[in-house]
Amino acid sequence: MGDMTPGMVCGHHHLYSALARGMPAPPVRPANFLQILEQIWWRLDVALDLEMIRASARLGALEALECGTTAIVDHHESPSAIEGSLDVIADACRQVGVRAVCAYGVTDRHGPDGARRGLEENERFLRAGGRGLVGIHAAFTCSDETLEAAAGLAEDLNVGAHVHVAEDLVDAAAGDRLAGLARDDWLLAHGVHLHRPLPGTLAHNPRSNMNNAVGYAHPAAWPGRVVLGTDGIGADMLEEFRLAYARAREADVGMSPEGSWQWVEAGWQLVPEARADRVRWSYNGADDPWRLAFTPGVRAIDVWVDGEQVLRAGRPTRVDPEEVRRKAAEQAKRLFARL
Ligand SMILES: [Zn+2]
Repeated sequence: MGDMTPGMVCGHHHLYSALARGMPAPPVRPANFLQILEQIWWRLDVALDLEMIRASARLGALEALECGTTAIVDHHESPSAIEGSLDVIADACRQVGVRAVCAYGVTDRHGPDGARRGLEENERFLRAGGRGLVGIHAAFTCSDETLEAAAGLAEDLNVGAHVHVAEDLVDAAAGDRLAGLARDDWLLAHGVHLHRPLPGTLAHNPRSNMNNAVGYAHPAAWPGRVVLGTDGIGADMLEEFRLAYARAREADVGMSPEGSWQWVEAGWQLVPEARADRVRWSYNGADDPWRLAFTPGVRAIDVWVDGEQVLRAGRPTRVDPEEVRRKAAEQAKRLFARL
């Protein structure tokens, strides 16, 4: 029993959503998943510019670090500010001292030109040596041509793709449309309504799935690797683990905390460097899933990434957290004025 673990990995995040909290209510109250996208996220993402993205990513990275999360697998979309957006996110995470695996979510929501520019942003970033995956928003917002182009780009660059898959019934055709394209190195977010197995890692986001009322993904039945993500609701992976365990237990009382902890450990296969990062927690027993599953409020005290201490006594060493939060509040105000 001890108070140290490797760095946590958030297997599916949207750093741009850090500024969304407190946004004005939408004109129409969303009544289903598609309306949540239309009324909230697609109004927000189109209003983002690079300054907002920078402030949002810095805040999200800071909040991740404060939760002992040293690696973020991000999925980004900002249709009015595509070019350079992945560099802004990677730089923001680097400043804070957190690892980032970036992807731009390609989509035909803004016509073929928008899809092309999204593909180009992935390619530009990855060819320049950026750490990332080729992002695809979801099959239901992409033509077959765009899906094939993104899959082809991923194969050419020898990286996986990071895609939302069957999060809701609106995307129930994703399994059939991605079969033949998906490979073992793909990262498939959600899979709630996926009725056929695909190659790849499943990123399970229990809190987000509840929040969007899309159903339960039954990750224990997934034949391949499962990791945990937050889908943009912070990056507290111990909290997501507790929730993942509670949902797994609700579906099957035979589930153990060790079963859900395997999904945390699988994050270290997704971002292997994070396994060498160290986190000292406020709780002696942080390496025991049975204790953690029933202990809310465990906090990261000290964090080392690549041997460098980036959180000391709960405070980041590389950035001024008050300044990060002040900048985020300024940019959130600009963002809300555009909605
Ligand atoms: Zn997502």
